[in-house]
Amino acid sequence: MSAQSKTFPHPNPPPRAGEGDERAARQSPSLPPRAGEEPAPEALLIGGARRADGGGLERIEWMKIRQDFPILQRKVHGKPLVYLDSANTSQKPRQVIEAVDAFYREHNANVSRAVHQLGEEATALYEGARTRLAAFIGANHRDEIVLTSGTTMATNLVAYSYLLPRLKPGDAVLVTAMEHHADIVPWQLICKSTGAHLKVAPINEAGELIVDKFIEALTPEVKFAGVVHVSNVLGTVNPVKELARECRKRGIPLLVDGSQAAPHLPLDVKSIGCDFYCVTGHKMCGPTGTGALWARRELLEAMPPFFGGGEMIKTVSFEGTTFADSPRRFEAGTPNIAGFAGLVAAIDYLSGIGMANVAAREHELLEYATPRLQAIPGMRIFGSAPGKAAVVSFLVDGVHAHDLATLLDQEGVAVRSGHHCAHPLMQFYGVAATCRASLAFWNTEAEIDAFVDAIGRVRKLLA
Ligand code: PMP
Repeated sequence: MSAQSKTFPHPNPPPRAGEGDERAARQSPSLPPRAGEEPAPEALLIGGARRADGGGLERIEWMKIRQDFPILQRKVHGKPLVYLDSANTSQKPRQVIEAVDAFYREHNANVSRAVHQLGEEATALYEGARTRLAAFIGANHRDEIVLTSGTTMATNLVAYSYLLPRLKPGDAVLVTAMEHHADIVPWQLICKSTGAHLKVAPINEAGELIVDKFIEALTPEVKFAGVVHVSNVLGTVNPVKELARECRKRGIPLLVDGSQAAPHLPLDVKSIGCDFYCVTGHKMCGPTGTGALWARRELLEAMPPFFGGGEMIKTVSFEGTTFADSPRRFEAGTPNIAGFAGLVAAIDYLSGIGMANVAAREHELLEYATPRLQAIPGMRIFGSAPGKAAVVSFLVDGVHAHDLATLLDQEGVAVRSGHHCAHPLMQFYGVAATCRASLAFWNTEAEIDAFVDAIGRVRKLLA
């Protein structure tokens, strides 16, 4: 056995740089194994979950999967941790933690610079993340993936590299009223320096995008649109395919912010038909500081670099610089290599469970939680779109969101309180802040009961 195959911690060794699309593609939930070809057994068994041929499930042992997450064993204020903040950042399974650990113990080197063995291994892991991400989101090719530090970096890259050279005074960028600041502020900055302006497509009280109004707003001055796939506050799943079709008819490029979709839904950017798609690794069981921008290849190829420095060049002299091909010309400097090694493991982990199974389990948990929360006197839930993701933003009459979250924390229950980086959405509902419980596939009904009971105790305490 070679040193490499002995030491790599992943279910499968990472591909060599520039290779491996095939194998990763076969692990992708959106790309089933080819007829007559057995998927590798390691790809089928993760944490006790057994994936049957064709991506269906014989059974999933969710309690065994839960054991993959070491942090769930800990106590907070003497109580078992009930972590309901996965939309903020997901917890990490041991496979990811071990992959990051193994990177520093066994493979640590810089990428693309060294011809030595460790440099090649580090590069293979880093490039493996590109390959895995491409398969995971259904990209045509790994070179359509720019590795970034997350969605924020991805939207800023599009703002400065794609949009800035194109916007003129009087032009507009269309967003929706439920966007995260990462899909508002970069466009606002570009609008300010070009004389363009922002347009906002409205939502209704249930937290659904009013699609007709979005379409109506696609007027000739609109040169770009940004839409969140799954709202981090409301859980609303936007009809991105339809929105992309309408944008395409009018020649308007559409960016979809997939930060909250990638961890919870099977994805296929090709079938969505958008132009840009952003994901962030730390919400997908991966490390912080990892993520990606997917863009149609011809768009990426036409985009100039945004950051300059090492790694993104072909030649440099004091007279001028020539740049590497996309996507590498957007990846200046030393990236979060250990993080991307962890992201490889995270994607393998999620793919092993199967995103359709993740979505189904989270839906089941949401169905369990919703009526129990609705039964609490004074409960107000924000967002009731059909098919919403497992995110519940709420307020309890007479209790400030921060007080509620602080008292729930004393009970071991971690929920987020605040504006969730969606000020305009808070303004729409006329509130300063909400509490938000966001579920993951490894949460349990017992945890939801503990959460509901804890709200009851907090209410009594404050009565
Ligand atoms: N968009 C949405 C919908 C999000 O939920 C988040 C994270 N809260 C972001 C963008 C930004 O992601 P990151 O901070 O990882 O770049």
